[in-house]
Amino acid sequence: MSAKPEDFFKNIISHCKEYGFIFQSSEIYDGLSAVYDYGQNGAELKKNIREYWWRAMVQMHENIVGIDSAIFMHPTIWKASGHVDAFNDPLIDNKDSKKRYRADVLIEEHIAKIEDKINKEVDKAKKRFENFDEAMFRNTNARVVEYQTKINDIHSRFKTALNDNNLVQVKQIIVDCEIVCPISGTKNWTDVRQFNLMFSTSMGSVAEEGNTIYLRPETAQGIFVNYLNVQKTGRMKIPFGIAQTGKAFRNEIVARQFIFRMREFEQMEMQYFVKPGTEMNWYEYWKAARLKWHQTFGLGNENYKFHDHIKLAHYANAATDIEFNFPFGFKELEGIHSRTDFDLKQHEQFSGKKLQYFDSEENKSYVPYVVETSVGLDRLFLATLSASYKEETLDGGDTRVVLNLPPALAPIKAAVFPLVKKDGLPELAEKIINDLKFDHIVTYDEKDTVGKRYRRQDAIGTPYCITIDHQSLEDQTVTIRERDTMQQHRIAISSLLKFLNEKVSLTSLLKKL
Ligand code: ATP
Repeated sequence: MSAKPEDFFKNIISHCKEYGFIFQSSEIYDGLSAVYDYGQNGAELKKNIREYWWRAMVQMHENIVGIDSAIFMHPTIWKASGHVDAFNDPLIDNKDSKKRYRADVLIEEHIAKIEDKINKEVDKAKKRFENFDEAMFRNTNARVVEYQTKINDIHSRFKTALNDNNLVQVKQIIVDCEIVCPISGTKNWTDVRQFNLMFSTSMGSVAEEGNTIYLRPETAQGIFVNYLNVQKTGRMKIPFGIAQTGKAFRNEIVARQFIFRMREFEQMEMQYFVKPGTEMNWYEYWKAARLKWHQTFGLGNENYKFHDHIKLAHYANAATDIEFNFPFGFKELEGIHSRTDFDLKQHEQFSGKKLQYFDSEENKSYVPYVVETSVGLDRLFLATLSASYKEETLDGGDTRVVLNLPPALAPIKAAVFPLVKKDGLPELAEKIINDLKFDHIVTYDEKDTVGKRYRRQDAIGTPYCITIDHQSLEDQTVTIRERDTMQQHRIAISSLLKFLNEKVSLTSLLKKL
């Protein structure tokens, strides 16, 4: 039972709703675009992913501490950071469909289509020739060379246009590439315009210009403006990091693809303050460390790749994305940026306060450089859930939907079932739950056949089901059934807690780092 690729993502979205992971926000009022609520299982999975990130950053590193700064901040912070002037996306409308697009995304998707054509040629040739030399084929096959030249040409024009902030040129690339609107199929485009992504509101009772404040578009600035508070009160020595998780808000132009691109989302960011001149070493260090962290989820190492930025943001001297193979292709999951001393210097200038570090080994003061790791919690949730979602056909033709979530992240760690609703079995089940609930989230289910109860737990990713039968009353053992292999074995009730601690605790993931 395997869905067609185009249906697969739709099935995941329905599954999220049907099993209490994610609901459209304000659904009874027909929803609010690109805003979502997490249901009873989604909230647990999200909390566990956040907790895993926090422990990997803060608990596992003596020199990284965590903070929780406010969403509202002084409006000058966003002037200093460059967000008021430069946090824009280039937008373009199709006059026929009235649909709005990000011009850069249209161009990148066009390039991806040409890359697909190259890959198809390579695959065809692989089948044809036994001793296939891919590098040579790419250099000599006329069609592939033509495609590659096209890509290089678009890339270089696009890079120049973005760097020069030349929106007329960006539109010209769209025209020259003959890119059509996916809805109307026409090339009837408006000019490209810049659109600021920050939401604003006013503070206090008077709605004057001076009271305008912004909902933070990233959590990082809360860390920069607290850099000295934390460094001094925590007596932190460089290199050191400050981590934070929290909501961020962006008025995204195109907000499709479910929780991949939301207008209200959660970030998990860590700024690592380093001595100037050492930032490239730390940049490489954090690239490797973060990739390894993602790989411990066990979702398949082939599903991750780095993508270096062509256009560096105004604050960066190096930047890469860790991309994940989502159901709609490889897309950004996490950003790793070497932000130089841009932010701290800007805040020094705009606030008039010194934000320096006295390096006792060098006997001098300087503004530290910063390497940042920034991952979207909702995107990580989508990556985890979509790569774990399996539609399986079992021996005998039966089918099941199972979430092979990393056990430590599963919303519910074990479900306890009495085989029948009598003879003291429910009471024993309740006793077992009462023993386990201090350490793990466990649930009780007595309705329907045990087979149906297994299916319900498989669908939400519960790694273990514990069944109590009449033998349990006699010898104090139960059957434990494993989600992925569906294998069962008997285990003493007195060993259950130790078993779960070993199998489903975050420690097991942290030890892989
Ligand atoms: P994109 O290119 O996809 O718009 P970005 O480069 O603007 O993302 P960053 O500013 O680097 O993103 O933010 C860091 C992380 O925050 C991203 O890697 C992503 O996981 C997450 N993120 C950013 N925007 C959104 C959004 N609108 N919805 C959900 N997550 C987001």
